[in-house]
Amino acid sequence: MMAKAEGIIIRTTDYGETNKIVTLYTKEFGKIGLMARGAKKPKNTLSAVSHVLFYGLCLFSKGRGLGTLYQAETLNSFRTIREDIEKMGYAALILELTDRLTEEGQPTQGVFNLLRDILLLIEKGTDPAVLAAIYAMKMMPFAGISPELNKCVHCGNQHITYSFSISGGGFLCPNCQHTDEYALQLSPGVQKLLPIIKAVPLERLGKVSLKPKTIGEIESIIYAYYEQNAGIKLRSRHFLEQLSKFRTK
Ligand SMILES: [Zn+2]
Repeated sequence: MMAKAEGIIIRTTDYGETNKIVTLYTKEFGKIGLMARGAKKPKNTLSAVSHVLFYGLCLFSKGRGLGTLYQAETLNSFRTIREDIEKMGYAALILELTDRLTEEGQPTQGVFNLLRDILLLIEKGTDPAVLAAIYAMKMMPFAGISPELNKCVHCGNQHITYSFSISGGGFLCPNCQHTDEYALQLSPGVQKLLPIIKAVPLERLGKVSLKPKTIGEIESIIYAYYEQNAGIKLRSRHFLEQLSKFRTK
């Protein structure tokens, strides 16, 4: 069956001397694997499009197994992202999350739209660390996790201050903090931001700018949460952690 779909390449793998297998996340079909024949030859028409972060319209055949990519037309080259090592690092994290949290052939239009809109916002200049945190938080249900960020996860009461329990699954009030000896102390800013990051609609995001320390605290909570509660350790995090040592903002 021939098909045309809007998609984003979230992973590529070399296949033999001249071919690549691209993993495309599409609006219509969800995640699909496609053989891009000749994509490793510089003059081949597929070589310019068979790379991660490609976003465009693709023409391909689709069967039970691996399909074949025939043509692809770029809709946005994400040039600003590609030219910035930090933005590219966060885009890689977002693509890796998409790949790890989705199954082939299960279309979820919400995921495609969220992925595309997040990448377009990074391209337009919104803070990539904040956008990656929003994406990671909104994708948590696909990993079967969802931290409680509105009340104490242990007693259900609302308090002014909370700590955060990774093993307990969210906020802990001062009375219940003893239930998790590893509960993380939260700065007031981070406590306020976590529920916002989880719930904010992208169109209402506006301009955001967080101090490196604040976003660093949020990131360590989110990714430790993925690792401990869903067993998902992201390779792209390592690169960003190295990079953050050089952050001067
Ligand atoms: Zn409590």
